Amino acid sequence: MTLGIKRWRVTLADVLIIGAGPAGIFAAYEISAKSDLSVLIIDKGKDIKDRMCPVAKTGKCIRCNPCDVMCGVGGAGGMSDGTLNLRHDVGGNLAEFTKTTAEATNLVREVDSIFQEHGAPKEIYGKNDAETEKLARKAAAAGVKFIPITQRHIGSEYLPDVISSLKRELESRGVKFMLRTEVERIEKDSVIVHGKRLKGKFILAAPGRAGAFWFAKQAQRLGIKFTHRAIDVGVRVEVPAVVMDPVIKISRDPKFHIITRTFDDFVRTFCTNHRGFVVEEQYDDFCGVNGHAMRTKRSENTNFAFLSRVELTQPVTDTTAYGRSIARLATTIGGGRPLLQRLGDLRHGKRSTWERIERGHVRPTLRSVTPGDISMALPGRVVTNIREGLEQLDEVIPGVASDATLLYAPEVKFYAARIYVDENMETNVPNLFAAGDGAGLSRDIVNSAATGILAARGIMRKAGIGI
Ligand SMILES: Cc1cc2nc3c(=O)[nH]c(=O)nc-3n(C[C@H](O)[C@H](O)[C@H](O)COP(=O)(O)OP(=O)(O)OC[C@H]3O[C@@H](n4cnc5c(N)ncnc54)[C@H](O)[C@@H]3O)c2cc1C
Repeated sequence: MTLGIKRWRVTLADVLIIGAGPAGIFAAYEISAKSDLSVLIIDKGKDIKDRMCPVAKTGKCIRCNPCDVMCGVGGAGGMSDGTLNLRHDVGGNLAEFTKTTAEATNLVREVDSIFQEHGAPKEIYGKNDAETEKLARKAAAAGVKFIPITQRHIGSEYLPDVISSLKRELESRGVKFMLRTEVERIEKDSVIVHGKRLKGKFILAAPGRAGAFWFAKQAQRLGIKFTHRAIDVGVRVEVPAVVMDPVIKISRDPKFHIITRTFDDFVRTFCTNHRGFVVEEQYDDFCGVNGHAMRTKRSENTNFAFLSRVELTQPVTDTTAYGRSIARLATTIGGGRPLLQRLGDLRHGKRSTWERIERGHVRPTLRSVTPGDISMALPGRVVTNIREGLEQLDEVIPGVASDATLLYAPEVKFYAARIYVDENMETNVPNLFAAGDGAGLSRDIVNSAATGILAARGIMRKAGIGI
């Protein structure tokens, strides 16, 4: 059952979960499977069946608030490509929260098998050992590190069914959902929605990236300990799919790590969408880009994020504020839209124009963009890292750094405020737990879901339930 605020009279649940993303859903899954604790999940977004991003169909973002790509049942993962990274040290580091690495690996298996029970396909990518070794060797020769990884690919069209199935299972176990409802404040034993207080014995904050900045503010106010972490700033690269074909045969979402020549900085590829589409992401005061791939609808292109790690030390440590100001500047330069530039134009110090882009042989899959100059939008150090990194990557994937390659900006990954949690995923505010991307504890679907399971176990232990 989904509750609307007007119909919600009894304002008490044993566990209040903020966020119906993978972290919140898997936490509820674990609690409802192993205890009688009542669970209420609150999310400011819609049910998965009602989420619909116009960008996927029309290429135009109409600035939904909350954004359907980022918010709602299934979370940011709900409308994603649904690639499950089956490693505990990709998309986070689960072993930081478990006693052993084996425990972390088991958690990944648990999450994966729940996804399979709810319809994720059986096929696994990334097991071709001889080919993997060959690619790793070629990469190493170019000073690039290839990270082999097994993955399960659900696909954007099937993921909603998988999420609906998970939601139905939760509802059949008595878990309640309060959707289209924003949590305004977190208090020590309650949350405030629409000015009303909802009480919970335990609160689990799993607000994802859309709620990360809001949660950091709550943490500051409540005296929750946290630290700013590195962020990743860069671009979404789009190339003809044929360029990526040989690598995609080996790994569906190939991960390459590069140390750049000039600045000795860490740059990486992330979230590759073969024959996919670039999409716009809306935040409250800036826009960014991301990508997705579908099983049935395919483009001629492949896109991936190419990101430069930014860490700040004394006296300024607030990477989130820095990342937001970069993204705001890029949004300003783009006239409220993401920027698009051909790599050749960036190399030659020219802004791109639609005319030059149309002359190139890579047709952009996101058209609601402003052709421009990325070097006016991103810090010089990041732009240098992107240029040098792409040239190194070109030695592994020939063609990736051609003049026609398209770069969309900004792509900023915030994992900044890392909430300090103990082995139960409990913060220093008693009975307030945290999980997932919004607490800086994960960066992908599997890792966020696993931190949700760990938080659920922590809550049950605290409630005196033997698990
Ligand atoms: C376009 C896109 C593609 C992606 N593709 C992949 C992929 O293929 N594979 C992968 O592993 N990862 C992918 N990711 C990342 C992945 O989706 C996230 O890592 C994962 O969803 C994080 O889970 P979470 O539960 O921590 O947070 P989220 O999934 O972000 O969920 C948080 C939820 O909290 C809600 N919320 C936030 N603040 C409030 C509030 N104040 N009140 C009420 N509700 C609130 C939001 O509405 C949201 O639904 C992608 C992300 C995006 C945006």
